[in-house]
Amino acid sequence: MIIDCHGHYTTSPPQLQKYRDGQIAGAKDPAYVAAQADLGITDAEIRQSLEGAQLKIQRERGTNLTIFSPRAMGMGHHIGTEAISKHWSQACNELIHRVCTLYPNNFVGVCQLPQTPGVNPKNCIPELERCVKEFGFIGCNLNPDPSGGYWTDPPLTDKWWYPLYEKMVELDVPAMIHVSGSCNPNFHATGAHYINGDTTAFMQLIEKNLFTDFPTLKFIIPHGGGAVPYHWGRYRGLAQDMGLPPLKELLLNNVFFDTCVYHQAGIDCMLKVIPADNILFASEVVGAVRGIDPETGHYFDDTRRYIDNAGWLTGSDKEKIFSGNAKRVYGRFARHCPEC
Ligand SMILES: [Zn+2]
Repeated sequence: MIIDCHGHYTTSPPQLQKYRDGQIAGAKDPAYVAAQADLGITDAEIRQSLEGAQLKIQRERGTNLTIFSPRAMGMGHHIGTEAISKHWSQACNELIHRVCTLYPNNFVGVCQLPQTPGVNPKNCIPELERCVKEFGFIGCNLNPDPSGGYWTDPPLTDKWWYPLYEKMVELDVPAMIHVSGSCNPNFHATGAHYINGDTTAFMQLIEKNLFTDFPTLKFIIPHGGGAVPYHWGRYRGLAQDMGLPPLKELLLNNVFFDTCVYHQAGIDCMLKVIPADNILFASEVVGAVRGIDPETGHYFDDTRRYIDNAGWLTGSDKEKIFSGNAKRVYGRFARHCPEC
């Protein structure tokens, strides 16, 4: 079995973006009153949006199940008020729930949180609980920078975030640390802001040991961990200079990386420095990079090939990366698929 732990609904029917456009326009109008979405999307439209895209790619690449969440770039936590973020997150999560209900063998849900810069993340708890308890979702996407590129909220290790972590632990759901779009023109969203977010989150976790307070809290750092595997020696050295235990002991019971690295040499580097127990297969299709690599003739995001081509990996390591680790990290996975 191959579980892809990182997919977004980037192909949602246009009514969703139309609703969002109304919110974005409203965010500039002091008289605007945020309201629940009434999207009018049919099941047929949902099927049509997936059949030629995510489902086709699953079939072609031989993956089985995608851990599926709303479009990350679309989360836009920096846009508008807390009420706007709440209604937007609810609409996006409800659509993911419909996808997972229509295709329970192909998708299992992860929610967007209704974060807003400067607003305590504990306010996200009702939506997290709704998605986990009512919809059967198995995780959440946590934006470490809801300001969209200005990093105005405290680091992930600050007590600011603790009420949300307490609820995640209680529900047994991990978070993928995932920024959204960038409103800072210095940072291209997927090329710089995403990778910054991944790298920054990891360094924050080194600087202050959150996992002493939350020994069972789990984070997945996407996009291959940003710069982390490539600079593993730097991070090991920094931890040592700070008098901290080795990274394996400090973080690797709680921090995991996905395989959204779009070339063989990058994946090879990650596989060599990060233990197989800490790597979860992912492709982020249909996502950030959509073209074919002229050097290989294959899609950049066909990440299964890179794992298959890593000849030195044992069968047991591959099994962990393709499915075993996802089943372990997403503690509620077994409820979704008891026979998996
Ligand atoms: Zn993503």
